[in-house]
Amino acid sequence: MTTVLAVANQKGGVAKTTTVASLAAALHALDRRVLVVDLDPQGCLTFSLGHNPDKLEASVHDVLTGDTPAAEALLETDEGIDLLPATIDLAGAEALLLMRAGREYALKRALAPILDDYDVVIIDCPPSLGVLTLNGLTAARSVLVPLQCETLAHRGVGQLLRTVSEVQQITNSELSLLGALPTLFDARTTHSRDVLGDVSDRYSLPVLDPPIPRTVRFAEASASGATVLSGRKSKGAQAYRDLAANLLEHWENGSPLRTYSPEV
Ligand code: ADP
Ligand code: MG
Repeated sequence: MTTVLAVANQKGGVAKTTTVASLAAALHALDRRVLVVDLDPQGCLTFSLGHNPDKLEASVHDVLTGDTPAAEALLETDEGIDLLPATIDLAGAEALLLMRAGREYALKRALAPILDDYDVVIIDCPPSLGVLTLNGLTAARSVLVPLQCETLAHRGVGQLLRTVSEVQQITNSELSLLGALPTLFDARTTHSRDVLGDVSDRYSLPVLDPPIPRTVRFAEASASGATVLSGRKSKGAQAYRDLAANLLEHWENGSPLRTYSPEV
């Protein structure tokens, strides 16, 4: 059975897109068939996987608002992952979808015919809690919340969890909230750990293991149109490989997710 994972946080710059690309590459390296969906009009995921959003014939926008089947908009990437790309057109999709019945289900319906071709589908949500994110959460079975370990990281988490809970009640009773993924983590400071302890206490939100360390390699990777996993060895790449193994154990063998305890 295909697992569909949404990566969501309405805050920008918390490493959603980096997490989608790196986790997808790590799952592909473990021989899983992986599709990633770019739901952000900025097209950063599309760009970071080596495609120019300004030069595409079809994108997720045409799939969500028109008659284009998802299969016709799919692109292959050098990383071996398939991509349903985004262009800036997607910025207009919110308004178009708002006038439609069943607007939250557009992505779920579009993915249904191609779902069997993949073991894992990962959805990169935009930095908002609008119709596009609702589509991502409605199409998903699990949701992961990247959280940058800085002061005030928790601002907005309550609102996001309320949205997840509403989706669970209204459009997707199967949706399970996996927890927070600490990103841009600096293990040398107690600050990162304090922030995580605070968030997990406040919202009783599991914090997944391992935290993703802050390393310069990520900026280099996204600029080069490849993920951090295809470059030289790095601690960040290893963290995403460990996360992939943690998630697969959970999805495929039903093991409890390994969590990180900030106290230790
Ligand atoms: P979002 O999709 O949530 O807006 P991005 O994935 O685009 O966030 O990441 C924001 C910025 O942080 C990017 O410039 C990215 O290269 C950088 N970044 C992400 N993860 C790391 C990391 N572990 N270490 C250093 N920089 C990172
Ligand atoms: Mg992004």
